[in-house]
Amino acid sequence: MPRYADIVLPLYQPTYTFEVADGCDLTVGEAVAVQFGQKAVYTGIVWRIHNERPTAKQIKTISQKLYDKPLLSARQMELWEWIADLYMCTLGEVMRVALPALIKPRGADEESFEHEQFRPRTLHFVTLCGELAAEERSKMERRAPRQYELLTQLESRGELRRAECDAAALAALRKKGLVELVEREVEGCVESECQYALPTLSECQQKAYDQIVHNFTQVQTVLLRGVTGSGKTEIYMHLIARTLAAGGDVLYLVPEIAMTSQLLARVRRVFGERVIPYHSKLTNVRRAEIYSRLNRSEGGELVLGTRSALFLPLHNLQLVIVDEEHDSSYKQTEPAPRYQGRDAAVMLAHLHGAKSLLGSATPSIESYVRAATGKYREVVLAERYGGAQLPEVIVSDTIRAAKRGERKSHFNKIMLDKIEERLERGEQVLLFQNRRGMSPYVSCGDCGWTARCPHCNVSLTLHSGSRLTCHYCGYSEPLPRRCPACTTAEVKPMGFGTEKIEQEIATLFPEARVARLDRDTVTSESACNRIVEAFERGETDIMVGTQIITKGFDFSRVTLVGVLNADNLLNAPDFRASERAFQTIMQFAGRGGRGAEAGEVVIQTAEPDHPILRQVMMGDYVAMAHAQAAERRAFLYPPYSRLIGITMRYRDAKLLHRAAIELAERLRGRFARRVLGPTIPPVDRVRGEHIVEIMLKIESGASFSRARQILREIIADLLQHRDYRHIVTICHVDAS
Ligand code: ADP
Ligand code: ZN
Ligand code: ZN
Repeated sequence: MPRYADIVLPLYQPTYTFEVADGCDLTVGEAVAVQFGQKAVYTGIVWRIHNERPTAKQIKTISQKLYDKPLLSARQMELWEWIADLYMCTLGEVMRVALPALIKPRGADEESFEHEQFRPRTLHFVTLCGELAAEERSKMERRAPRQYELLTQLESRGELRRAECDAAALAALRKKGLVELVEREVEGCVESECQYALPTLSECQQKAYDQIVHNFTQVQTVLLRGVTGSGKTEIYMHLIARTLAAGGDVLYLVPEIAMTSQLLARVRRVFGERVIPYHSKLTNVRRAEIYSRLNRSEGGELVLGTRSALFLPLHNLQLVIVDEEHDSSYKQTEPAPRYQGRDAAVMLAHLHGAKSLLGSATPSIESYVRAATGKYREVVLAERYGGAQLPEVIVSDTIRAAKRGERKSHFNKIMLDKIEERLERGEQVLLFQNRRGMSPYVSCGDCGWTARCPHCNVSLTLHSGSRLTCHYCGYSEPLPRRCPACTTAEVKPMGFGTEKIEQEIATLFPEARVARLDRDTVTSESACNRIVEAFERGETDIMVGTQIITKGFDFSRVTLVGVLNADNLLNAPDFRASERAFQTIMQFAGRGGRGAEAGEVVIQTAEPDHPILRQVMMGDYVAMAHAQAAERRAFLYPPYSRLIGITMRYRDAKLLHRAAIELAERLRGRFARRVLGPTIPPVDRVRGEHIVEIMLKIESGASFSRARQILREIIADLLQHRDYRHIVTICHVDAS
């Protein structure tokens, strides 16, 4: 009988070997409680069972088995290993993000592990509990038609699932004491017999659908390139229905939670309670319940989630959809595992022998090249549903406008005219500015002093209420009245962020109702939903926001979208800047004109002739992708190479630089000209730690796994040096 087991713990450390007690029957993938360190007991995963006695003197015994079923299947374990190897982290670091907190409890002793199995799946049902006088009834019918509608629905059907009800109407009826919520346990899927109310596909959607299905018989991965509003989501729904009907599980990934609420409502209208939303803002209990229930499911599950949903136990996975596949939020940058969720999704599908569908109006250059070289198949959907026109793009030169006196605060005249037009017609406007706060920095007009963070090498951002805040470490201080350097002049806000735009719009259009969507207002999922839903109901006219307003939303009354400053998109210091600028602006443009009225896009820029803006004006994705791919090939950037960013951090700048130079030298010994740096990044100090970077560029064709292996060895060797032991060294694979 095997006597030892290698256990993965949710720590940076590698696996540890424990002894298996007599009579303890272990299986790979199972969760166990083990003592590690002096006092702590952790949940660990049995990774390997064997008979090789480890060299350590004292070997601890596995204390306890958890759960009645392994937490991980062989395929999940393979995915973890693939991620740990490719993205250069430990299995323990993968475990940290992969398993919900309550599934992997830790504590001071074994009693902490007397935990539940998270068995029940409870659903909320709405029933009537009060009556309304006839007079009140007719009042409600006139004044609150949605509440009235819900009430009459309940009267005819007895009860409704909460998800079927209009949230606002439900809340109002509850407040009036007319309805109540009851919780009931439901085992497994509630509506396997249900006939889905799928939309009928248009002719060209049907054609695209047929092509996808056909291509799936020949390749694993299809890229669906469909212009915004072409109905990609509707095509997904048909594919989902087909997969569920066959008893398969579906994983439907979206880049951000901000997008899930609107989409969830839409997907629920077709698939009802069967849809399982999964993202980081769910409660710990909910996440544990979902994990545990899926682990026992027989199939036919539909998960709609952000990248961490990849790690859920979908044992019968047959279809993976990655919506907005180009979106940079699929990449986790901090902390490890620094993985690319889209690529991991394709790998996951591969491990299951499942199909993967990547959808976007503006696919990543990586996927475009893979489709062009036959690795993926591409299906194109070129028209908007219902014959709606793509919005017209107007590029407006800020410098010329200023010269002609046609610029008021941060707006060109044409932008203001167009906004006014929309307000008069009762239509809605979205305004995008990719910086939050009032002003990205404040500066003295006389001596040039700027407010900087004492802990980071960045300027402080001015927020309303006159506070200066560091966007890197959170440090904040009040705005000084006089310049602290020359003590004479006043300090002036420079540049502009979303708050400033919100304020200026309120001054320029006092009658408009303005909302703002950015990290400062989106403090929780519900805060986000409130802002989005109010806009959806037409309670606000103009929504100002950062990147998040550019994505996914489907608002039918938006007819104008404005980009306030395209220049900081175009000039970002990143080889992907052009691609990203194109994607962001096209994506954002796609938010407009989705209803009956045509939409317009106004882009303010100091470089109206920038090739990317020309391609945006023409809506020419292929021209953009072609040009970018050629450039990447010429300069050997991804997908023609792979990049590993090596970041080193330490308090002592001198020692750090010495170590970085030494590391770069050693790397050059093995990788020659593939090593770039060390370089000092634009923000070279954060939270008191200095930062240097080295880049490793491995061309396609060379062995990437061998390169990672050599890199690991060289770094481990360097960090052996006693002076360098405490330098934090991070490898970031596929970094940009
Ligand atoms: P995309 O995801 O490509 O941006 P959507 O799926 O959001 O496009 O579709 C755009 C709009 O058109 C949505 O409001 C959607 O409900 C509507 N629509 C698309 N296809 C159909 C269809 N076949 N039947 C009814 N409505 C559709
Ligand atoms: Zn000064
Ligand atoms: Zn700071």
